[in-house]
Amino acid sequence: MPPPLDADTGTPDMHGTPAPTGPVRNGSLGRRLVLATLVFGLIFTGMAAAVRTWQAWRAHLASMTAELTLIDQVFQRTLSKAIWEMDRDALRTQLDSAAQVASVGRIELRIQQMGRTPEVMEAHRDGQAVSPMTPQITRELTYEPYPGGREVVGELHLVGDERVLRERLQADVLGIVLTQLVQSLLLAGVIMWLFNSLVTVHVRVIARHLEELTPATLGRALRLNRRPRGGDELALLEVGVNDLQHKLSTYLERQKQDERDLAAHRDRLAELVDEQTAELRAANRRLEELSRVDPLTGLANRRHFDEIKDVEFRRAQRLGQPLSVLMCDVDFFKRYNDAYGHAQGDRCLQQVAEALRDNFARAGEIVARMGGEEFAVLLPSMNIQFARTAAERLRRRMAMLAVPHRDSPVAPVLTLSIGLAEYDPATMDQFDQLLHQADQALYRAKSQGRDRISE
Ligand code: GH3
Ligand code: MG
Ligand code: MG
Repeated sequence: MPPPLDADTGTPDMHGTPAPTGPVRNGSLGRRLVLATLVFGLIFTGMAAAVRTWQAWRAHLASMTAELTLIDQVFQRTLSKAIWEMDRDALRTQLDSAAQVASVGRIELRIQQMGRTPEVMEAHRDGQAVSPMTPQITRELTYEPYPGGREVVGELHLVGDERVLRERLQADVLGIVLTQLVQSLLLAGVIMWLFNSLVTVHVRVIARHLEELTPATLGRALRLNRRPRGGDELALLEVGVNDLQHKLSTYLERQKQDERDLAAHRDRLAELVDEQTAELRAANRRLEELSRVDPLTGLANRRHFDEIKDVEFRRAQRLGQPLSVLMCDVDFFKRYNDAYGHAQGDRCLQQVAEALRDNFARAGEIVARMGGEEFAVLLPSMNIQFARTAAERLRRRMAMLAVPHRDSPVAPVLTLSIGLAEYDPATMDQFDQLLHQADQALYRAKSQGRDRISE
């Protein structure tokens, strides 16, 4: 399971490393939507209230104008008549009565007088100030003393009451603002409820599902409890999450399989390496042995002899023990080869080696092929008398073997010449001195007629 899945959960991811902490849960999408709706609602309320207030103002102006017109119609005849008859009491009574009507702020009566400036009578509410905003109407007052004799007697000027207008408007504005506010709040509430039940609840379910997801629970599909399910964005998200889980699960399974395969390969490789190392060690051991063994006879070779000789020499020096050396050489071996062939010569050398091995089989005794038909024997803890006895035993053995050698001038069978030497602490401080002495003894055996032992 890749770590990003756990990025917002704050729990350890699937590789065990702590995932970065996600955003703190303090802001709900629904709440933010409601706030935005409320702010928009308030702006809308303000604008709508302004428009509706303006409309209400226009309506009140119109209605006040209509009321003033009605008053004019009501008082037209009686006022005209009172002016004609110059009945001032009636005029005052009518003016005061008209001024009592709610929408009238001020009433002004201009009485036409022949050749004089018109007389003005007025009535108004207390504290009524003239405002250019209030509606006003001005009508001519006519009287018909006899049919067809129509005469202008004055002019009636009616001014609306601004306070009444303002009170009516205030009541309206309050209503408008309240209804707009209630509308906006209701709208925000409905949106929040809808958003909550359609989106937020499911988004939380998805978040919790993802939070609880581990490699072990990848197989558990996400199920949103919705009816009808539909093909909306949430359904797409649900399908997407499940699809992702499925892919991750497959991927993890493949990765595990790969790791298992890799481990198996690694083990197999280690086994192979072990096997080959063992084989190599064995081969090395074998090579080591071979490097110390003469391949024709199976005896130690010169190299092995050289390794051992100094060790034995030092031991003899240290312990003050005797140490003897035999040098053997086959007599007239060149002639043997010439007479019987080289292969038979090889077999002959093997027989000589066999005889040497049997004769010097005690622990510590070493027989080596020094080269060609020449052999050396190292006899630790043995003085020259014992060495001579052993050499004679060897010669007897060769005689018993009686390997035919028809071209040998000394005997009809194969013979050996043997030189003996013993370590002398007084004159020798190196093995090669001892070996040289044995060589000289061999040389003497040869020169004295072969088939003998010389010291
Ligand atoms: P001498 O009595 O003086 O020792 O005479 P010789 O013929 O034995 O000695 P020489 O050194 O003249 O000849 C040694 C011969 O041994 C020569 C060589 O062909 C033979 N020879 C050496 N190594 C081998 C071998 O591994 N196999 C065989 N078949 N012959 C060998
Ligand atoms: Mg020889
Ligand atoms: Mg020789």
